[in-house]
Amino acid sequence: MTYQGIKFVTRMIGSEIPIHSNLERLKYWCNVFDQKGLAPPYDGGSFGNLSFRVQPGSEQFIITAAQSALSESSDNNNFVTVNKVDLEQGIVYSIGSREPSSEAMVHAAVYNTRPNVQAVFHGHCQVITERAADLGIPVTLEEAPYGTVELVNRVLEVLEDHNFVEMKNHGFLALGKSLDEAGNISLDFLNKC
Ligand SMILES: [Zn+2]
Repeated sequence: MTYQGIKFVTRMIGSEIPIHSNLERLKYWCNVFDQKGLAPPYDGGSFGNLSFRVQPGSEQFIITAAQSALSESSDNNNFVTVNKVDLEQGIVYSIGSREPSSEAMVHAAVYNTRPNVQAVFHGHCQVITERAADLGIPVTLEEAPYGTVELVNRVLEVLEDHNFVEMKNHGFLALGKSLDEAGNISLDFLNKC
C-alpha cells in the first residue's frame, strides 16, 4: 500500500511583499546555498527553501517563494510571509505576491516545536544524504512525500533538540538561533563530507 499523504494547501490572505531587516541576510544565504550546490535548480525552481522567524516568539516567518531559484533571490517578491499554518487542517496562510515554498509546513512545525529557533534552512545535498548516518546526523525513519502532513510527522519524530536532521532520501534541515547559525551548520556538514 502506498500512502501519498495529505498535501497542504495555501490560502493567500494578503499580497504585501515582505520587508524586514533580516531579508538581506536571507538573500545572502540563498546565494551561498546556490553557489555551494545545496539547492540544485530544477524546472525553473529550486530544491531548497530558507526561512527566518519574523520576531522571537512569533509564529510568523518569511520564506522563499515556491519555485524560486535561489540564484535569483535578489527581489523581495521572491519571498513570502507565512502568517499561520494549521498543521491539522493542512492549510498554510500566506501574505505575498507568490505562493510560499511547498515545504513551508515543515518550517512551521519546527518553529512551533522549538521556540528558540529563529531560522530554518532546507537544502538538498546528495553527499550529505548518502553519508548522514556516518556523520551522526539523525535521519527520519521513513521517506514521506514533500508537502505532506506525513513528512511533518516524520521530522517531528526525530527532531528532539537536534539542530541538523536529514529527511530520508530527500534533504537536510538546519536550525539556528540566527540565520548565520543555520547557514554555518549547513556549511560545516558540507565540509565534513
Ligand atoms: Zn526538499
